[in-house]
Amino acid sequence: MTAGGCFCGKVRIQLNGQPLKAGLCHCLDCRKLTGSIYSFGFVIKTADLEVLGSTPLFGQGMKADGTPEETTVLRAGILEDSQVLTEWKPQAELYTDRRLEWVPPIEGAAQCSAMIPL
Ligand SMILES: [Zn+2]
Repeated sequence: MTAGGCFCGKVRIQLNGQPLKAGLCHCLDCRKLTGSIYSFGFVIKTADLEVLGSTPLFGQGMKADGTPEETTVLRAGILEDSQVLTEWKPQAELYTDRRLEWVPPIEGAAQCSAMIPL
């Protein structure tokens, strides 16, 4: 179990499991959404995520029938345990053709020019 929260502290989360995948994304949407040059996220089981406090701006995805998707992408920066972030190293990098030239690839991470199956 690991905990996290947003900058203002109104949204708190608890992750009760390990990520299924960990990766960096260099796509333009992630740049805009994060205000950074790439994002670091985890694919997790939605059932492992507990959201406490206010409803987040970007919530869990829903299926057409209104039930939550089985997996959710959790932005790594919301987690507070630096040891967890060190252990859950990116296994893949996505949209690498958009990576800035001065950002080196993560050693051992798969390099993908597009999205991979979640
Ligand atoms: Zn992206």
